[in-house]
Amino acid sequence: MKTLKLRTVAALVLTPVMMFITCQTVRAYVIGCTWPTSTGFYRFHSSLPSGFSDPTDRGANAWTNVPESSWIWYRDTYTTNYVKYGAIDGVGNTVASTTRWISGSTIYQIEIKYDSAETWYTGAGNPASDQLDAWSVAAHEFGHALGLDHTQLTYCPGTVNDPSRATMCSGYSTGLTYKRSLELDDRTGVTVAYP
Ligand SMILES: [Zn+2]
Repeated sequence: MKTLKLRTVAALVLTPVMMFITCQTVRAYVIGCTWPTSTGFYRFHSSLPSGFSDPTDRGANAWTNVPESSWIWYRDTYTTNYVKYGAIDGVGNTVASTTRWISGSTIYQIEIKYDSAETWYTGAGNPASDQLDAWSVAAHEFGHALGLDHTQLTYCPGTVNDPSRATMCSGYSTGLTYKRSLELDDRTGVTVAYP
């Protein structure tokens, strides 16, 4: 199995992140920045192969479907918040990225990109051991896109293969699907950010 990284491009949110880390005691999620409302929009870019539509929607819906949180992801055809497919850094390492444009600590635009160099699995069953699960990666990236950073590492047990890890823990491997579903810490994070 290859060990892969999921990356977010959010250098400007470092200061608020560190404030949250020093204030927290038991939680592991990290809120980097937030949207002004509890609603986010996304749109499929023309570069995105049609097979990615369903796993992308399922990844977004993982967050919409948290009953305690008011957060909703809507897919429409007007927003400039694109989900794209293209070259990032070749095979391995970064497999997808989320870019957040922020003003202060408020997000006003996002872009998600799958690395076209990876071998992707876009179904709802089980990926082969050398395939990266698009649904799982989408769930992780949409967590970044709504404002969560990576879960504090000390609360991400074992290796990247440990299925009890939160969806927002960094790192992932091919052949796995556990990040499709959110863990309690992910759900608490989105609920605190968007009650
Ligand atoms: Zn990430």
